[in-house]
Amino acid sequence: MGYTPHILVVGGGATGTGVARDLAMRGFEVTLVERGKLTDGATGRMDGLLHSGARYANTDPAAARECLAERRTLEAIAAHCVVDTGGLFVSLEGDDEEYFERTRAGCEDVGMDARVLSGEEVEDLEPSLTPEVDRAFRVPDATVDPFRLTVATARSARNYGATVETHTPVTDLLVENDAVAGVEVAPRDGTGTRELDADYVVNAAGAWAGDLAGMAGLDVPVGLSKAGMVVVSESPTDRVVSRCCSQQGGNTIVPYAGRCILGTTGDDVDDPDVETQAQHDVDRLVDGLAAVAPELGNQRPIRAYCGVQPYHNPQQPDARTDTGGATGSFSLIDHEERDDTWGLTTVVGGTVTTHRLVAEAVADHVCAKFGIDRACLTATEPLPGSEREADTEDKMEQFGLASAVVEAGRDRLGSRASEVLETSEPNPVLCDCENVTRTEVRDALDDETAARTDLDEVRIRTRAGMGTCQGGRCCHALASELYPTEPIEAIDGALDDLCEARWSGQRHVLWGEQLAQAMRNYNRHARALNRGREHLDLDLSAFDSGPEWDEDDLNPRGGGFRP
Ligand SMILES: Cc1cc2nc3c(=O)[nH]c(=O)nc-3n(C[C@H](O)[C@H](O)[C@H](O)COP(=O)(O)OP(=O)(O)OC[C@H]3O[C@@H](n4cnc5c(N)ncnc54)[C@H](O)[C@@H]3O)c2cc1C
Repeated sequence: MGYTPHILVVGGGATGTGVARDLAMRGFEVTLVERGKLTDGATGRMDGLLHSGARYANTDPAAARECLAERRTLEAIAAHCVVDTGGLFVSLEGDDEEYFERTRAGCEDVGMDARVLSGEEVEDLEPSLTPEVDRAFRVPDATVDPFRLTVATARSARNYGATVETHTPVTDLLVENDAVAGVEVAPRDGTGTRELDADYVVNAAGAWAGDLAGMAGLDVPVGLSKAGMVVVSESPTDRVVSRCCSQQGGNTIVPYAGRCILGTTGDDVDDPDVETQAQHDVDRLVDGLAAVAPELGNQRPIRAYCGVQPYHNPQQPDARTDTGGATGSFSLIDHEERDDTWGLTTVVGGTVTTHRLVAEAVADHVCAKFGIDRACLTATEPLPGSEREADTEDKMEQFGLASAVVEAGRDRLGSRASEVLETSEPNPVLCDCENVTRTEVRDALDDETAARTDLDEVRIRTRAGMGTCQGGRCCHALASELYPTEPIEAIDGALDDLCEARWSGQRHVLWGEQLAQAMRNYNRHARALNRGREHLDLDLSAFDSGPEWDEDDLNPRGGGFRP
């Protein structure tokens, strides 16, 4: 390259970080700006499924093949973010046989070994499934930690020279002579706005891509589909289990970090910032999937959350492939071609599974805009943490940690484990639920892509606060790690924000043991830690008590009332 074009990428989700990494590896000067922390959009609200493509096999074989290939690529380059659980598509007595056969045949056509398993064979593999499962076939589904993946992708981009600025919203697009020439941002230090010049801007703002394009007067119609999920404290299955029936949504159990995620319900919405989950969706997920794995009816939901998936298809807005929140396709809009405005490309859609491939397509497109021919390197170069085998247990035990703590740290950190866990200082476990030690928390706080006083940054990097107590027992310990380097007001604010964020996902699953846990958390904070309601600012009216209840509302799962 004679001169090095400066590419500005907007959006710190899987797509934006993937584009930043790819372009940085191809030698461009790259700046990524994200209005919040990395993964603040759909990426941090997906259901952890690394698609094999089986869901698309009978409707969109090309998308299925892409998923299958990318699932394998991610397993190779991001080993510490992926668990190869395998998957089962199961059919219950009375389910549509023709649909089962069509889906199975589609999977075979795209290269999966989808031999039919009998009910007995399924029982051997997954004894917790209902005896009503009369057949199934295996699919190469896996699970992925979208937080770890995105942070590692951003870290890799930085290693290749990219600048990553989080907590830096784009407030305007700079347009000169029918060309986008950069962006205006409001940096996190609160010093007003600042202009960032760029030779090219990539709009990877996900559900907000239309708003961003609108800043340059450009129209990008973005449809929004909201999907809800429930996190359960234990997983009844080792594999991803999907009920193979024509009913869309509410049919997948994803085992995830010792727990499981039930997904998903879906509704079209107008607001990309919608965060609330409808109570009937929670019940629908738990009850619907308890028909597949009856233990779920007695287990402990610890959180419900939702995410919004964008899609762009102005000609046929309803023609998307709706497979429970994830759509197989993506759209790339060249605003020079479409609107005679040089300097901006918008990308909408895709999945976490295919984000690397989408990023490659965007990077190819940017290269073409500059007449540059540089090969994509992202499919073979491992992400930080995945460069080599994780450290062996023998080596890890030298740090004086219990084996469960060693194992958890090694799973999360991959080949960075020794580097992070090695210390001559005391290294207590700060989050018991997820076995997170102080050095891991400090590593997260020191990450240059994170804002130090946002403890949610620690959560996404370590899983601290994501266990059964939902931060009730550990969030003050996390906050105390900010002392004495940060001012006390900032530490208090960080603690309040983390408590509030952890609380917001629990209020729709408050029955039985999780209700008792919420009360224990409240007591600990309000009484033992002397943080009264004026500190916590919790909206307790948000308990889903419902206006009235009677005997029939007694929670059939025991331990409390069900709204
Ligand atoms: C409920 C749900 C379940 C899903 N399940 C799966 C699954 O199991 N498997 C799978 O592979 N895929 C799944 N997907 C799809 C996948 O999550 C998304 O396709 C993917 O995360 C999209 O990433 P993205 O980077 O394009 O968008 P996002 O992750 O939404 O990132 C966009 C980013 O842009 C930022 N931004 C917006 N406006 C501005 C601004 N003005 N300035 C700066 N930054 C800005 C946002 O804060 C956000 O972080 C699911 C999606 C949903 C919604």
